[in-house]
Amino acid sequence: MGKKNCISCNVIFETKRNPQQTYCAKQSCQNRRKHLWRKTKLEQDPDYSLNKQKANKRWQQLHSSYWREYRARHPTYTERNRQQQRERDRRRNKLLSRHDASHLAKCDALPEENALPTGTYKLIPLDEQFLAKSDALTVKLFLITNSYIEDVSLAKIPPYSSEPDKAVICGS
Ligand SMILES: [Zn+2]
Repeated sequence: MGKKNCISCNVIFETKRNPQQTYCAKQSCQNRRKHLWRKTKLEQDPDYSLNKQKANKRWQQLHSSYWREYRARHPTYTERNRQQQRERDRRRNKLLSRHDASHLAKCDALPEENALPTGTYKLIPLDEQFLAKSDALTVKLFLITNSYIEDVSLAKIPPYSSEPDKAVICGS
């Protein structure tokens, strides 16, 4: 059989069964060949692409417990991720509350550290003994100022009526 240069690593190899072979037998070159084949196929064959999406979805349905179990097996990884996410959320919320404040008139009177950032919260109604009276409601809180409440444009601010339960928290 003929000798050829691999189009991936340029090494000389011998074609055995398939004279059209362009990649050598090395694992990395074969991986590269398969990767390129799949990429081209995905771009050019909508049926292949659709089937792949369906297969992925099916896999996810069959393995819905996969990540849950993975997290249980890797507590350190999970905890680190959780902390990183918390840090990202904190930074994001800080940015968002600053952004919201800039849209509202006379908001600077409210110290930023006392401000509860705009976001979705679980609200649990309490009785006089501070015991939960009912299940938690999901609410969206928007920080506004008293001076802003007097403004007629209040009607225009969110929450919009399409939200399930909602509340507005007012700064002093
Ligand atoms: Zn090669």
